[in-house]
Amino acid sequence: MVKKTRHEELSKLRAQIRDVTLEIIANAHKRMELSERIGTIKGNLNIEIEDERVEQEIRRSVTEFSHKRGIDPAFAGRLLNILLMESVRLQQIQQKKPRYTTLENTHLSVFMKAKELESSGKKIIHLEVGEPDFPPPRSLKKALIESYKKKQYHYTDSRGLLKLRQAIAKKVGNGTVDNEVIVTSGGRFAIFSAMLALLKQGEEVISIDPSWPAYREFVDFAGGKIKILHTTLEERWAPDIRQLEAMIGHHTKVIILNYPNNPTGKVLDEKDITRIISLAKDNGLYVISDEVYSDYVFRGFTSLTRYKYDKSIVVSSFSKSCAMTGFRVGYGIAEKEIIDKMARVQAIALTSVAEPMQHAALSAIDYNPAGNVKLIKERLDLISEKLCNMSLDFITPEGAMYVYPRLRGLIQTDAELVKTLLKLGVAVAPGSGFGENYKQFIRISACQPKKLLEQGLEVIKSILFVH
Ligand code: PMP
Repeated sequence: MVKKTRHEELSKLRAQIRDVTLEIIANAHKRMELSERIGTIKGNLNIEIEDERVEQEIRRSVTEFSHKRGIDPAFAGRLLNILLMESVRLQQIQQKKPRYTTLENTHLSVFMKAKELESSGKKIIHLEVGEPDFPPPRSLKKALIESYKKKQYHYTDSRGLLKLRQAIAKKVGNGTVDNEVIVTSGGRFAIFSAMLALLKQGEEVISIDPSWPAYREFVDFAGGKIKILHTTLEERWAPDIRQLEAMIGHHTKVIILNYPNNPTGKVLDEKDITRIISLAKDNGLYVISDEVYSDYVFRGFTSLTRYKYDKSIVVSSFSKSCAMTGFRVGYGIAEKEIIDKMARVQAIALTSVAEPMQHAALSAIDYNPAGNVKLIKERLDLISEKLCNMSLDFITPEGAMYVYPRLRGLIQTDAELVKTLLKLGVAVAPGSGFGENYKQFIRISACQPKKLLEQGLEVIKSILFVH
């Protein structure tokens, strides 16, 4: 008898849950219809699709409502973000606007156009690429041959070869052990796997612009919502920590840092790192610190590994330090539990990094990049001097391989300058590829010999100031 009534109750509850689900979907549909109508009006009035102020208002109402009704505000916030993202997506489709940074406005699109021009016989000076032009360590050749001879070309542990993880742990120091290391397919995959491992649908990631465009794409792809903290040249690209604090909500999950920074060359002050970590601690946030340029640093720089924050994921790579971009070996350093989650993503996507490439990386573990760093510094000094002579504003790079000047003179938007320069045989990266607020900037890379840098900068000068 009891069993029968339990079954009846179960059926009733199931019917109710189905009805409530249908109600939610019907309401979501109603919301989308409203959103489309709003989109049409925005299109007519030529208003931006995303409006932070309006979002904040809804968010406040949702938080209040959740508190009143005893709903978990983090859950409500995530649900809201899913709805907001869907509205943006619909309005973008409606207005035929591209969803991601278009190929039109990134350093990669310029690179591809430059390659096309080169194949038709035009000579191009490449100031857009972020790829070191010097050779990789000599040890690689022997390591690859040995790896072939010894039949070391198999699947490995998804976290990478134990020997390599041990060597990386030793290099990182500070008590790091092998199970706190994952070897990934470039630094890129370390960041991507961390995002996929950590983010739930609708959770937020705070990123500091201008920034490497891949961060936004990773978050988008993982179903998260990116929140941008803008920085300015006037503030020497330093993030406003109070503003950062104000951006943190119940559903914020990760802060991503990249110092030395691509594209600005900024290195964060220690006091700012300390404040960011303290904010992260207070709010239970993960911090991904992308340190792929950490060897190219010309002032004091402290890796996040030194702070022993249990929710940090520090990312580095052999790509820039050892000029090994095509070998695709990078790594992440984090607590074992986080590493295991990232390893699961790597296992699903790739099984492991190719074994011969891991042996190659192992052979380069003690490579001293001092010569390369000196060369890049000299080139950055040269670029800075020339830009100074043009009276352009920028910060002298404190690290990385780029200078990020603000345009002045006859041409003031990146897209126009990039187009004109390409015609004259010089490729530079448009500033807006690193964030939509930076259309007046370009990124000049120090990955070419001085002579070519000088030639390229002469052309830039000629079109900025003489027409
Ligand atoms: N982070 C930043 C800021 C970068 O500029 C790059 C490469 N351009 C990477 C990560 C990834 O490098 P890789 O995957 O080759 O290690």
